[in-house]
Amino acid sequence: MGSDKPETYFFIPIFSYSNYIIMATQVTSAKRGVVTPEMIQVAKDEDLSVNLLKNGICNGSIIIPHNTDRKQNDVRHVGIGHGLRTKVNVNIGTSTLYQNLDEEISKAKVAVKYGGDTIMDLSDGGNLDFIREKLLEAAPITFGTVPVYQAYAHGVEKYKNPLSITADDFLRAFEKHVKDGVDYTTIHSGITKELAQRVLKVRRHGGIVSKGGTITAAWMLKYDKENPFFEHFDYMCEIARKNDVTFSLGDALRPGSILDSHDELQVAEMINVARLAKRAQEYDVQVMIEGPGHVPLNEVAANVRLAKSLLGNIPYYVLGPLVTDIAAGYDHIASAIGAAISAAEGVDLLCYLTPSEHLALPTAEEVKEGLIAYRIAGHAGDLVKIRDKAIKWDRAITESRRTLNWEKQIALSINPEEAERIHTRRQGQHEGNNVPCTMCGSACVYIMLPQQRKEMYPHQDSEKPENQNVIEM
Ligand code: SF4
Repeated sequence: MGSDKPETYFFIPIFSYSNYIIMATQVTSAKRGVVTPEMIQVAKDEDLSVNLLKNGICNGSIIIPHNTDRKQNDVRHVGIGHGLRTKVNVNIGTSTLYQNLDEEISKAKVAVKYGGDTIMDLSDGGNLDFIREKLLEAAPITFGTVPVYQAYAHGVEKYKNPLSITADDFLRAFEKHVKDGVDYTTIHSGITKELAQRVLKVRRHGGIVSKGGTITAAWMLKYDKENPFFEHFDYMCEIARKNDVTFSLGDALRPGSILDSHDELQVAEMINVARLAKRAQEYDVQVMIEGPGHVPLNEVAANVRLAKSLLGNIPYYVLGPLVTDIAAGYDHIASAIGAAISAAEGVDLLCYLTPSEHLALPTAEEVKEGLIAYRIAGHAGDLVKIRDKAIKWDRAITESRRTLNWEKQIALSINPEEAERIHTRRQGQHEGNNVPCTMCGSACVYIMLPQQRKEMYPHQDSEKPENQNVIEM
């Protein structure tokens, strides 16, 4: 448990691979038995042996997205994958209709402050290069982007028509993000020309809801050409490998309504993506796969099992999923329900939703609400997935609750600021520990029976629960 000492440490090794002189990646390092500083940090954070982590990186079940050209120092990198804590991603970014960089920077800071593990800049309006640079500075955590949005914005700016972009523009956008230091990029490689043509024939209730997927499909159909991210996938692997940029293979055809869940488009794309992920791994490129979307409750576990069956142990990164379509204004809650089940079934990274999903660009406050909801969902999943580690937090807060240690209970809460605000907001609440709260007052269950027990059995140690399983089960 975290005590295995690697035999040798070599940092930033350089070697020749397939005619390229490249910096070592996490995968090439792991395969050579070399432990990187990122591996040491992640092993410590996860209370995991460095050797177990290294093995996971070798076989692709664990990734540590980290662009070797990221300019910021002190970036908190995370491991994503098998045996690790479920991580939560926060999406921010401008839109074509609303651009306010200060607001996006505030959202980035909220994401860091409230425990986001990764962040994605989804900006598609304004000066994207400048916005990305500022958000990379504001968020010293694992950082992702969607290059096809850059290609789209380039089309609007250069040709006054987003669909006038060339295959080269798709690839240049990806290369630009790699050079700018982003740690991972969503690439919609799985939607082929054949699948885009099927989109016109398959009648879906919710249509196609991936923006990147829609841009790519519309471009292929307009020019009758193959998806550049599919056709030139090997070239992109070589580019990604140079900077150790992780692929997040996008799901352009994810369902946009629970009525479309697991239709032929979604499953066909999933098969394509599984093949591409294995190809990326042949290049020692780190990769994860994106998943839905909108999935009814009874299909959530099946979705994760199907994905894991197709993908092996490649990390799975899901959006929600939303388990109902009726919750506009509360989609962070509707999707956190699906997220908790997904995490329990083995999902590795959750992409949050905010209360403004389907309605508007979120505010910083809504980013906080979505993130907290998802941290709860991730932890609830971890209580099943990595129970022995995750249960320590619940055990500690249970103890502080039973002993009316308000200071500790509030500090251990998912959002201590909010717990403190609620606890102290009414007149009548006495300050300090060992006092009831305004809910039951003198009928507090943590005072009445323990007091009686003390009177009846003065020598019994009432501080220790007799049956630890009461908490653990
Ligand atoms: S007063 Fe009621 S709600 Fe408050 S701590 Fe005691 S039992 Fe819990």
